Amino acid sequence: MTRRDVMGLVGCTVGLAALRLDRVVTAGGSAPQRGAPRRGQVIRTLLQDVAPDAFPGAVLFHEHLSIRYPLTKALADKAGRPVPVSFSDDVDVMVAETKAAGADGVGCIVDGGHPDMDRDLSALKRIAAESGVHIVASGGFYMQRNYPPDIAAKTADQIADDLVRDAREQRLGAFGEIGQQGGVLTDDEKKVFTAVAKAHARTGLPIFTHNAYTGVRVVDPPVPMDAALKQLDVLEAAGADVKHVAIGHVCCLDDPKAEVARQLAKRGVFVGFDRVTINAIIPDDKRVAMILAFLDAGYADQLLLSSDFSTGRALKKNGGPGIAQTKTVFGPMLVKAGVSESTLTHILNDNSRRFLAVEPKARG
Ligand SMILES: [Zn+2]
Repeated sequence: MTRRDVMGLVGCTVGLAALRLDRVVTAGGSAPQRGAPRRGQVIRTLLQDVAPDAFPGAVLFHEHLSIRYPLTKALADKAGRPVPVSFSDDVDVMVAETKAAGADGVGCIVDGGHPDMDRDLSALKRIAAESGVHIVASGGFYMQRNYPPDIAAKTADQIADDLVRDAREQRLGAFGEIGQQGGVLTDDEKKVFTAVAKAHARTGLPIFTHNAYTGVRVVDPPVPMDAALKQLDVLEAAGADVKHVAIGHVCCLDDPKAEVARQLAKRGVFVGFDRVTINAIIPDDKRVAMILAFLDAGYADQLLLSSDFSTGRALKKNGGPGIAQTKTVFGPMLVKAGVSESTLTHILNDNSRRFLAVEPKARG
């Protein structure tokens, strides 16, 4: 059998299993399954709670539709520099670009920003209302350099209380991206990871992280390969449910055999290949090879894809592929490498829904 045959078989098997289980669930059963979210679960979008099967298309679990990066207003003020312009400042443009992503087959986008990245919730609401694409907004804190000053004095429980309140009041549907600045979590970062896990345990909302080894910039000293695993250690110790945790930026590791990705998956979490199409340090062909190794190890149910959209260059209006680039640019690379269309659809459509979908009671 060729890899293409094997991948096709994997995809078919998964698809049939999901269909069969859907029938069981429709008949009143509640058997846990890998193929689709449980009946009654919802994706908490900014405008409404949505049943995962109520809309078609891919769900991109880590993008940015409203962000100022890397120099936020707070950091610019602190440095005495002017506040930089962001590609997402023009909300009309972001509405048009998101609408175009919808036409490219994207049904829902998770925005990975929060206030410490200058995420503007009212802009996201407008984009959701006018583009027709479901938008999930997130809560949390980015990394040490972005933390508001009062983080240092608060306990993890106090931060968790704040996160739960924000999630309830602002209709947040996830906690992310939760990051670290260097190779080792600072004390404050560890506290924030703990707080996020506690808030997640109370609300059910999923968590996605930012591994420091982003590939955009080499940090000094270099980030150890087990940094992603250590993020999971902290989240698990604080009570996180691995079925709703995604460790992000794993695609930026120089890990041809996907060893870190497989170690993570073995512990039950989703593995985020969420900087695809960003060809810095780790190019997409290496990411494709890592994904093939990951799929060959049997983890098709635990892969999440997204592009961490954070530059104006990729906007369609600037000649780029647009916000759907994970589906329209990277997806075809996987298919060309031997991944079946059905497996790709399973990853883009089913896995991300299962990651995001929570019980409606989950309001903390
Ligand atoms: Zn991001």
